[in-house]
This record gives sequence, structure tokens and C-alpha cells, in this order.
Amino acid sequence: MKLVALAGGVGGAKLVHGLAKILPAEALTIVVNTGDDFEHLGLYICPDLDTVCYTLAGLANPVTGWGRVDESWQAIESMAQLGGPSWFRLGDKDLGTHLERTRRLRAGEPLSKITRDFCHAWGIRHTVLPMSDDPIATIVETVEHGELPFQEYFVHLRCEPTVRGFQFAGVEKARPAPGVPEAIEAADAVVFCPSNPWVSIDPILAVAGLKSGSGAATPVVAVSPIIGGKAVKGPAAKMYTELGIQPSALAVAEHYQNLLTGFVLDQIDADLEESIQNLNLQTMVTDTIMKTLADRRRLAEDVLNFITNLN
Ligand code: GDP
Repeated sequence: MKLVALAGGVGGAKLVHGLAKILPAEALTIVVNTGDDFEHLGLYICPDLDTVCYTLAGLANPVTGWGRVDESWQAIESMAQLGGPSWFRLGDKDLGTHLERTRRLRAGEPLSKITRDFCHAWGIRHTVLPMSDDPIATIVETVEHGELPFQEYFVHLRCEPTVRGFQFAGVEKARPAPGVPEAIEAADAVVFCPSNPWVSIDPILAVAGLKSGSGAATPVVAVSPIIGGKAVKGPAAKMYTELGIQPSALAVAEHYQNLLTGFVLDQIDADLEESIQNLNLQTMVTDTIMKTLADRRRLAEDVLNFITNLN
């Protein structure tokens, strides 16, 4: 089976880690959100790409959920001592990634090629692609501050402002990265990882689209990031509420409805299964919380079995 997985950072990285433990290299392509990317301290930072790559390479920091394991913070601390901005925490090892990526981008290399080389250096065998080599910036429209660049909203203001909507600046001109349309075309199935629908999966869909009809020809399955009406981590549920939608697995299924064949929801939400089936979706109820590597693998196995058994 050839699979394409669409992923943001934390939730997406956990499921693709499980999938990568089961599927051979040629059977899994991971398309990662770059709408959160931004320039900071003169460096080009790709939070979701790095979270996915560090996770697949076994280099991720299990405590923070972002950045690298066994990290030190000397550069950012010495900068803070000089009065420099330290709101976006960058560890010393992590800084090496951003320095080298920025150097190569400035030399004119595309992000997809740099990512391929980094994956090779980190021993990642599965294909990881940024959604686009062109800049696309997720803008959060807020009640209190108007339009905010994503990291300003997410990290600097700790997701506190009230969300009104989202824009993906640059998406009209952007093209999907080389390999993305080809992988989707060749896929036997597409999986939307349990990532934030608004700011992780929607930007990928906006640029890489599942062209009309591909949803019908190729099974598309989403795993709910909302469990028991709450996000495991991050602002997804808060965003639903502020946009006037009650956060739930059903709301996620409705969000993606026209693109989906199947939907995976947590056992806590089993009472929503029938309503989701009424959206004309096939469903699987399972334990979707991934705390350990074994959880990631088990959920990935469940998702693969679900896909194999779709009608
Ligand atoms: P971000 O870009 O770092 O915010 O990462 P994602 O968009 O990939 O992940 C955020 C979403 O992942 C949140 O909505 C979480 O609820 C969801 N999430 C995180 N861990 C898990 C998990 O173990 N299981 C499920 N089902 N969802 C999760």
C-alpha cells in the first residue's frame, strides 16, 4: 500500500512515526504544513517540518513536544542577557538546523531539496515533503489584535487572542512542492493526521489540494485531533469555540466531510459514531491517544487496517 499522510507538528508527527515503523520507505510520503514557517533572528524556521523530522529521526524532545532531545540553551540565554528577544525558544542544536537551512535557502536552494538532504543526514528513510517551496504564511484574524502572523499568535501571545478566521497569504501564487502531486496521484490512500484542522491540515489542502474527484477515487481517512470535545494539546478546540462551532470529533468530520471516505474517532467519543456515519462516512472507533511509541504504532496499525477494510 502506498500512503500519503498530511501532517502538522505534534499530533501529526506522532502518527507518522507510528506509520513509519510499519510501512517500508517507498510506501509512505509525508506532506508537512509550512504555513507556520517564519523568519526570526534572521533565520528561516519550519516548526512543523522540524517536529516531524526530529520525531522520525528519534531526535525529538519528549518533554517539550518540540525541539531536540538533550538540548542546551546557551545561545538564546546569552542573547536574552543582552536584551535580545527570547520569546521563541531555540535550543543550541536546533539552531544548527536553522542556520544551515537558512544558508542554503539564501543560496537559492528549494526547501524540498534541503529537507531531503537533512532527512538523509538524520537517517530518515521515508519521504518528507514540505507542502510547498513557495512561501505561504498562516495569518490568524483576531478580535483583539486584527491580523497576526501565526507564531505571534501561537507562541508570543500564547493563543490568547480570540480567533475570527484564517488566511493563507501567498497561497494563490504558491505551487505544491515537487513530488507532492505525484505522491497524491500514486497513493492508494491519503491520511489526514490528528493535526489542527484549521492551521495544519487546511493550509496543506489549500496548496496541495486533493483535486476534485481524487477524494472519490482514492480513499481519504482523517484521525480526529479532538477527543472528548478537547484538543490533546494546542488551540484547536478553542478555535472551534471562538468560530462558533462546538468542538467535537463530529465537528472535525463535518469540517473535512466532502473530502473524506472514512473517519477515526476516539473511544471516548463512541456516542458520536452514528452522527458521523450519517455524514456518509465509514468510521472506526479506537484509542487514539498516543502517549508512548507503542501507542503510535498501534494507532497506525488500526488506521492501516481501517483503510484496508474500507468498502
Ligand atoms: P502543531 O502544528 O504542533 O500544533 O501540531 P498538529 O497540528 O499536528 O497537532 C496539534 C493537534 O494534535 C491538536 O489538535 C491535538 O489535539 C492533536 N493531538 C496531539 N496529540 C494527539 C494524540 O495523541 N492523539 C490525537 N488523536 N490527537 C492528538
